[in-house]
Amino acid sequence: MTATPATDSTSTYPHVQLLINNTWRDALGGETIPVHNPATGQVIGSVAHARKADLDDALAAAAAGFERWRKTPAVERSRLMREASRLLRERADTIARLMTLEQGKPLAEARGETLFACDTIETFAEEGRRVYGRIVQPRAASVLQQVFKEPVGPVAAFTPWNFPVNQIVRKLSAALATGCSIIVKAPEETPASPAELLRCFVDAGIPPGVIGLVYGTPSEISEYLIPHPVIRKITFTGSTPVGKQLAALAGAHMKRATMELGGHAPVIVAEDADIGRAVKAMASGKFRNAGQVCISPTRFLVANSVRQAFIDGLVAATRALKVGNGLDNGVQVGPLANARRVSAMERITADAVAGGADIAAGGERIGSTGNFFAPTVIVNPSASSLVFNEEPFGPVAAVRGFDTLDEMIAEANRLPYGLAAYAFTSSLKSAQQLTENLQTGMLWINQPAMALPEMPFGGVKDSGHGSEGGPEALEAYLNTKSVSTLCV
Ligand code: NAD
Repeated sequence: MTATPATDSTSTYPHVQLLINNTWRDALGGETIPVHNPATGQVIGSVAHARKADLDDALAAAAAGFERWRKTPAVERSRLMREASRLLRERADTIARLMTLEQGKPLAEARGETLFACDTIETFAEEGRRVYGRIVQPRAASVLQQVFKEPVGPVAAFTPWNFPVNQIVRKLSAALATGCSIIVKAPEETPASPAELLRCFVDAGIPPGVIGLVYGTPSEISEYLIPHPVIRKITFTGSTPVGKQLAALAGAHMKRATMELGGHAPVIVAEDADIGRAVKAMASGKFRNAGQVCISPTRFLVANSVRQAFIDGLVAATRALKVGNGLDNGVQVGPLANARRVSAMERITADAVAGGADIAAGGERIGSTGNFFAPTVIVNPSASSLVFNEEPFGPVAAVRGFDTLDEMIAEANRLPYGLAAYAFTSSLKSAQQLTENLQTGMLWINQPAMALPEMPFGGVKDSGHGSEGGPEALEAYLNTKSVSTLCV
């Protein structure tokens, strides 16, 4: 990656290149895509735009890289991963600044994301050393029955702009820990922090071809990589409609796939909940990354007996948030990552108001420079409103009241999504009822989300399939081979 003069006066931002065979290079055709700062709207840099000839180079490198990496002992793979993590920790401040410039999130969140990525790399580096096969009792003497776990092969990973580093690191770490090579199609809107993540692995000494990084036109790249015979596994994080297209393509070519898609997380606040705890956990969870989080709490289903107390607390916490440029001290909510999210927030709030809802906080964009939208609380939208049916993916919370826990569970399960859910209750009986009946991949009770690498992370229903945490995350990158030998 070479540095070019930035047009945004706030900083220097690099020209981001492709990574193929451990070489940083421009696209063969010389095409680039501009990168904008969402806080200022200014162009701050550019990223190389790969076409098919570049992808062919990346595929050839990944095929050769896989042959090297699968034969590298797990303990050595683990050592290289931990060295990459050490470098990432050392470079966290620089990488966080790039992330804030390209994505908008407050600097503290960007730094937290980068350091959390170290935790993920280290956890998976350790798990990779504990991938075991097994010996199965034979039915006859002199027979040896063995089960082996083998890396699935070169992986194609597609990741979005909301967590430029963390969306990649779960896929990258699981692939590397199991002996797979990987080509990452990283987000064109936020390309520099992903490039710096991969640079840590190159600088740590990972062999050529094991990791690749490309940017370009997302549909062109996925339509070329997914059917390609070199690629054996697909992993995607993004919206449900795109995920369905990519999963169908993967299915047509019999490729393994992990799909981490959209959600519309219900938050159940029961009448016996600790309201102060619920407000504190959900106000910070809701507006983290300006709500552009797949597990963001979005549909607040509150017992009518505590509804007003909860709304008062949430509105006060929302109004107290400091919105601004993520580089500025004390800012808690940055701009939305791109202008289309601001339009989406305007559409969602206007629709709720037209349906009879009240706006208790926020409800409009802030200023005309950058993509700022005020943290918003919508009270009593209709059940058919957009905000209660479509994933908002922005700084909008919507609250409706219910009389019974059964009604809240029915509402939570009504949508086709099933990624994350939250519940607040002081009753063990209610907690158990929620655990048994909520159709969700992840449930946090009486606490904010903690997407820890040792816990499974993934959804059900239209939110996708497969898991990106815990031992399940490695299983997704492994084939099972069964070998029976008559020892003659
Ligand atoms: P989008 O659906 O156009 O893109 C989402 C991501 O998918 C982007 O990174 C994009 O580059 C990628 N993508 C799009 N088409 C692709 C294709 N054919 N092949 C490969 N990759 C492709 O939406 P957007 O406007 O960028 O984001 C808005 C919506 O995306 C949100 O409403 C949310 O549902 C979803 N989203 C989800 C997550 C998540 O963490 N699950 C992250 C970002 C966006």
